[in-house]
Amino acid sequence: MTRLLVIGSANIDHVMEFDCLPKAGETLMSEGYRIEHGGKGANQAVACARLKGDEAEVSFICALGCDDAADAMVNSWNQDGIALEHIKQFEDVATGSAMIFVGGNGENSIGVASGANSRLSAEWIDECESVFELSDSLIIQLETPLASVRAALQQARKHGCKTILNPAPAARLDDDLLSLVDIITPNETEAEALTGVRVTDLESAANAATALHRSGVSVVIITLGSQGAFLSENTGEKFQGLIKGYQVTPVDTVAAGDTFNGALMVGLSEGMEMKKAIDFANQSAAIAVTRHGAQRGIPKRSELDFSL
Ligand code: ADP
Repeated sequence: MTRLLVIGSANIDHVMEFDCLPKAGETLMSEGYRIEHGGKGANQAVACARLKGDEAEVSFICALGCDDAADAMVNSWNQDGIALEHIKQFEDVATGSAMIFVGGNGENSIGVASGANSRLSAEWIDECESVFELSDSLIIQLETPLASVRAALQQARKHGCKTILNPAPAARLDDDLLSLVDIITPNETEAEALTGVRVTDLESAANAATALHRSGVSVVIITLGSQGAFLSENTGEKFQGLIKGYQVTPVDTVAAGDTFNGALMVGLSEGMEMKKAIDFANQSAAIAVTRHGAQRGIPKRSELDFSL
């Protein structure tokens, strides 16, 4: 049994669609309203659960309130077969939520209340040590407090669990933290925030990757939207180059990166070599961008045309 561990945020997204975004002081009637399950941690847990084989298990650690949003998300994650024993719930704070206004031309305006996500503490991570002992790999992002991210990476290192850091949203991180990371997966904006190098092409992607290698990360994967992902390895054959993405007509790129990250961890846990795991991740994310919604749009393994 391969055990995959995902730690991170869970948000309930309230999405309203308008022809034009309301201005300050203005009230507009919405053309459409829907509730989506999101949050980078939860999206990545769902991606792992839908894309893994039968012989793997996915555990998710997050912090929720005790409210309807939490109940709805737990119910949906149960249907995806995610192990939820280490979720922490709080009575005095709401589950994380986002209010998303989408304008007719694709522009948006988003407010996020991190709510219970901000309560995911280093202490709780340390109390979950038994999960790290059993897990083969960990994926984590930056939507929960940095102290919990550091604690999780330290627990993973202590127990020989391979670590993937998806450094989103963009932040500058210290080398002590980065040296606990085996694989880092920034997009272009996040790569610039981490390194100061503006990523505009493959040459600048290589420069950003080199800076991250210097900070102690041996595998850097910079996702490049429809182009695919730039891989830079500081070990083994030291490959540097683009792994091409799949051509699709995108309708919603929300959770593209999360699907990519979940798929990457699944691929590597099945023993795929790095380039092949990135190809698997590119294909999984390309399907997600052809569909609306965050967790709703994440494909199942059976929908991929991928031979091992
Ligand atoms: P993020 O969503 O975190 O900003 P990217 O935009 O780089 O990250 O997308 C992550 C991955 O999703 C890409 O590496 C690629 O595999 C896939 N992807 C994103 N946009 C598209 C697209 N328009 N067509 C095909 N694949 C896409």
